[in-house]
Amino acid sequence: MASQITHALAGEAALVAASKTSALPAPGPVLGTFFRLGCQGPDLFYHGQRSRPVSISLGTLVHRRGFGRLARALVADALRIPEPAWNAFVLGFLTHAAVDRSSHPFIVWFSGWHDPSRPETARYLGCHAFLERALDAALLEGRLGLQPRGWSIAERLLPSGGVPRQFAARLASALRAAYPERLAADTLLERRVANAFIDSEGFYRFTDPAAVSLSEAALAPWASLDPEAGRRAVAVLYPEGGLGDLDIANRRRLPWAHPCDPSRVDARDWFQLVEAAEAEAAGVLALALGILDASRPDPPELDSLERAVGNGTLNVGGADGKAARPVACSPLPLPELMEAEFRVRRERLRGSPRRG
Ligand SMILES: [Zn+2]
Repeated sequence: MASQITHALAGEAALVAASKTSALPAPGPVLGTFFRLGCQGPDLFYHGQRSRPVSISLGTLVHRRGFGRLARALVADALRIPEPAWNAFVLGFLTHAAVDRSSHPFIVWFSGWHDPSRPETARYLGCHAFLERALDAALLEGRLGLQPRGWSIAERLLPSGGVPRQFAARLASALRAAYPERLAADTLLERRVANAFIDSEGFYRFTDPAAVSLSEAALAPWASLDPEAGRRAVAVLYPEGGLGDLDIANRRRLPWAHPCDPSRVDARDWFQLVEAAEAEAAGVLALALGILDASRPDPPELDSLERAVGNGTLNVGGADGKAARPVACSPLPLPELMEAEFRVRRERLRGSPRRG
């Protein structure tokens, strides 16, 4: 997957492209937070690991299969009870799949993974999440000329009045419609989803690059971290120490391969992958906007929407869309960069002079 900034920027670009084909206006500034929060899709459930009952297994389920059915259920629900904030959230949610599918092979190839049966791969723990954030930073600079600390995740993703209470009930009911075999009997589902929103809000505030920079207050908690805990913490933060001349976005367009099938070679850079996702997501949004625009109950176009979104995995998988284990990678020296990030924060904290 990509991380929060890429999902938001790609979703917004897809919406601008799709809105040109629809009579319905795009969600305006007030609704923008709902839309960008929606763009985070089922990653919201990955952040739901604190408040009980937790939601993390929903993140795994939705990433694994059935996203097209969920998209259909969400739009059907938005049709039944139209409400601007919810509609904006649903439209954002629909864009998540294209971005994940387009970016995941690249990220897994270049970050590797930890295989507990091979202790030597422990050094790659956290590299996936860290690369996502470094790529977020590259896209943000390329598109808007901003550093991550200039793009407050809390301000851009969190509605000022909080997430409306009905969101959890509506998202839970769409999940139940999409995955009845797994969720029909889960009596805690709505609570789980509500907790995902609560925990995600906490996570976005805790990792907000606008707040978690090199200021003294932000650095204080680093005093108590040992190097291992520091590395884990760095993985979910935006890089502050610079990436040197490492070509994390593959700007040179060197060949890389699909981690599940190294015979599938690609040479696109990160920006091309995001643009491909935006084009696909724009097609999905044009369909969804058309359905919401016509406002007919249970229209046959919901079938086309489900097909366009697709039910294949959002993780890496085979050409058939089934989730598959990665077998090959060529990781960038991310462990070293993460250690450098940890050192930058520790040295600042101690007030020692910065290394040039
Ligand atoms: Zn995702």
